[in-house]
Amino acid sequence: MSSDTIAVIGGGPGGLRAAHAIAEIGGTVVLIEQRDFLGGTPIAENYAGLTPHGEPAGPQIQRMIEAVTAHPGTDVRLGCEVTALSGEAGAFTLTVRGPAGEQPAQCGAIVLATGFTHFDPGRETQLYGYYEYPDVITLPDLEAMLSQHQVVRPSNGQPPERVCFIQCVGSRDRHIGNEYCSKVCCGVASKEAIEIRQLLPGSKVYIFYIDMRMYGYWENEIYWPAQEKHHVQYVKGMITEVISKGERLLVRGEDTTMGRPMELEMDMVVLSVGMEPSAGTRRMARVLGVAQNKYGFIHAVGGPLDTVSTSRPGIFACGAALGPADLEDTVSSAAGAAMKAVGFLRRHAAAGAS
Ligand SMILES: Cc1cc2nc3c(=O)[nH]c(=O)nc-3n(C[C@H](O)[C@H](O)[C@H](O)COP(=O)(O)OP(=O)(O)OC[C@H]3O[C@@H](n4cnc5c(N)ncnc54)[C@H](O)[C@@H]3O)c2cc1C
Ligand code: SF4
Repeated sequence: MSSDTIAVIGGGPGGLRAAHAIAEIGGTVVLIEQRDFLGGTPIAENYAGLTPHGEPAGPQIQRMIEAVTAHPGTDVRLGCEVTALSGEAGAFTLTVRGPAGEQPAQCGAIVLATGFTHFDPGRETQLYGYYEYPDVITLPDLEAMLSQHQVVRPSNGQPPERVCFIQCVGSRDRHIGNEYCSKVCCGVASKEAIEIRQLLPGSKVYIFYIDMRMYGYWENEIYWPAQEKHHVQYVKGMITEVISKGERLLVRGEDTTMGRPMELEMDMVVLSVGMEPSAGTRRMARVLGVAQNKYGFIHAVGGPLDTVSTSRPGIFACGAALGPADLEDTVSSAAGAAMKAVGFLRRHAAAGAS
């Protein structure tokens, strides 16, 4: 039996935006989130200030949640996961496993918004000692510290005097098969560097990069102020290893502008880890039978003019489930996926009536 409900799977910024957009244009939504709270990775990982204005993630995402839950027709199911799909576009039946056991849910179309996970810097090919040295941390580890307004060395609880970021950890790396750029980590590292300098004005902060990739507002509102106003030092170079030296960390590599080896002592090293498909994205691709690209993200089949249609009719995807994306990209693709899903159902209903 055909259904006019759209199932949105994943309750992060992408899923929230998609659910809100569908409800705003008169559609009925069931929003299925595996965690027992909405908000996605920014909430689960305690992100601090979000770009471009640095407003804390909590209240910003809370506004998105309230916009969704304010619609009485929106059915939010927390702690739930789709375990099977049957039927076809226009009349899908999902099996949803949750606190009340397994239950069927009817829907005509699906928006997949299952997001990303951070690259695990402990993989063999990474020589930066993440699991060896407590003062080697990642971008999300630092986000969690910044959200508490307290940046300290995990080894001794003292504020660091010298901090560096190492860019492209787990991205643009052929050895591990992640040749793609994760898009947000240049900007996020620059944002976090600004936040450290504001919190610890006596600190020295360095960013070691292959090349800085900024787009849109990130260039003018984050990158240039980081250098000119907050005196973050950008060094073009390849870091080959991080080892311990007494109380500090020794960062070794090559200054590629000067063409010479470099060694610098740091109190804390931050690895700018990239974005990979979440385990939920990989699982849902299999359960729903939609194609993935070679990295495991959902494959959008429509080319540059349709970035949200998947290989299966009636199923659309958005946000970081499709590949690395910042919030602007995420909410744009979510609105696009919502429009596509609503349009698809309307055409399907019109074809059934004629
Ligand atoms: C360190 C860091 C800082 C960042 N800071 C910024 C910033 O300041 N500004 C900015 O624009 N961008 C920032 N970003 C990017 C931003 O986090 C992403 O653009 C955004 O989170 C993508 O939203 P999403 O909903 O697609 O995915 P996610 O946020 O990953 O949400 C996915 C949701 O789907 C759920 N899910 C997964 N699988 C399933 C399943 N099978 N069933 C049900 N639910 C499931 C998850 O539990 C989660 O709730 C940052 C990224 C990083 C790594
Ligand atoms: S955004 Fe920057 S740090 Fe991230 S992968 Fe791309 S170039 Fe590397």
